[in-house]
Amino acid sequence: MSHSELQTGESIAVEPVTVQTEQGRYIDPIALTAHLPALHYHDEALYMEQVSIEAIAKQYGTPCYVYSKQAILDVYQAYTDSFASLNHQICYAVKANSNLAVLGVLVQAGAGFDIVSRGELMRVLAAGGAASRVVFSGVGKTYSDIEYALTQGIGCFNVESISELALINEVAKTFDKPAPISLRVNPNVDAKTHPYISTGLKDNKFGITHEDALAVYQQAAELSHIDIVGIDCHIGSQLTEVEPFVAALDKVIELIHSLRDKGIELRHIDLGGGLGVRYIDETPVSIDTFAAALLPKLSELGLTVFFEPGRSIVANAGILLTQVDVLKPTEHKNFAIVDAAMNDLIRPALYQAEMAVIPSVLPNNGIDTDGTKAWDIVGAICETGDFLAKDRLLALATGDILTITGAGAYGFTMSSNYNSRPRASEVMVAGDRHQLIRKRETMEDLYADEILWQD
Ligand SMILES: *Cc1c(COP(=O)(O)O)cnc(C)c1O
Repeated sequence: MSHSELQTGESIAVEPVTVQTEQGRYIDPIALTAHLPALHYHDEALYMEQVSIEAIAKQYGTPCYVYSKQAILDVYQAYTDSFASLNHQICYAVKANSNLAVLGVLVQAGAGFDIVSRGELMRVLAAGGAASRVVFSGVGKTYSDIEYALTQGIGCFNVESISELALINEVAKTFDKPAPISLRVNPNVDAKTHPYISTGLKDNKFGITHEDALAVYQQAAELSHIDIVGIDCHIGSQLTEVEPFVAALDKVIELIHSLRDKGIELRHIDLGGGLGVRYIDETPVSIDTFAAALLPKLSELGLTVFFEPGRSIVANAGILLTQVDVLKPTEHKNFAIVDAAMNDLIRPALYQAEMAVIPSVLPNNGIDTDGTKAWDIVGAICETGDFLAKDRLLALATGDILTITGAGAYGFTMSSNYNSRPRASEVMVAGDRHQLIRKRETMEDLYADEILWQD
């Protein structure tokens, strides 16, 4: 598939790809992949860009995460194109997918980064990124986190509390280096997303309330080693509508005007991340529509605009490949036990996230095909919550390679070794090339750092 054929932003149509039947849910693989620029079927076999999925599974084994380089770049480009009329910086949120190869691709494209830990900053630097293009979010920054970020020349600390502000000032004084800061304000708007990924309500742990923000800015202005550079908010993740973003922007603009009245001038406004993606039948606004709704208000401000998208850049650039190990039909339910599990991909268990599972080879997978049954796709972990998908109509045989789409964000980064399972390998595809970008952990890696008790 040539680059120009890859679509970005708006999905092609909002027709659902799900057919709900009495037996279960059928997700049409052809219709689904029509919305996923990196994936397509050719002669009934699934490809990412020009590489066969079965060939990747064979060469690298399963479970295996696979990412399309072009799909990542296309979404990044859609952001920069949509905001081209403004000075802007797209700070990719590292926690969505922090593999060095993914970060490296974005460094080359000119991205900045949003980080929430010292480890993430070290990753950005290891991938060739510049600290000056990094914003540091997070509610629990410690003295040593701040010291490291400041001495590396961090672009901005997104400050989430008064005590953090005082701590940053103290560190900055010690190193005699003024610290650039924004306050992360909590605009108290409902992002209308899953409660665990909603962050902009007043009972969330994040940010400084809208009511307190002005006073905290005035306090910040009094501190000797604080350089106020911006204002920041981030209201949640997987938002599919534009209205909550506009509501948050309106609240932030109000504050910017109040700050100007008090003589506090800012250089940038950071609207966080959170734009949703189409996993199956969601209908998120496109990046274009998102930009169109915000641009008029942003242009008037005359400030540089930052965004911190994570999920929307990488989610649909990635898939998780898994092999069917055991089929266990029972009277009430049919279980397909696969070699990926909740330790590899926790979104279904943690957020009731629904992810599409499609076959890597087509012929046996029509909705009416003989042998099509409703399956729960589950892992082998000793937890009932260990499922990847439920009630999916598929025709399965042991040894089949299944592709879980939309797995590029909050997939590998949230994986663990629960049940002493080595973490999956990661592969990147570009055109007809593919490269290992993270080795599969070995069994020995699992306990290599552990030490027997000595009597
Ligand atoms: C997680 C996070 C993001 C990214 O959110 P997405 O939904 O992945 O776009 C951006 N900013 C902050 C502060 C975050 O915590």
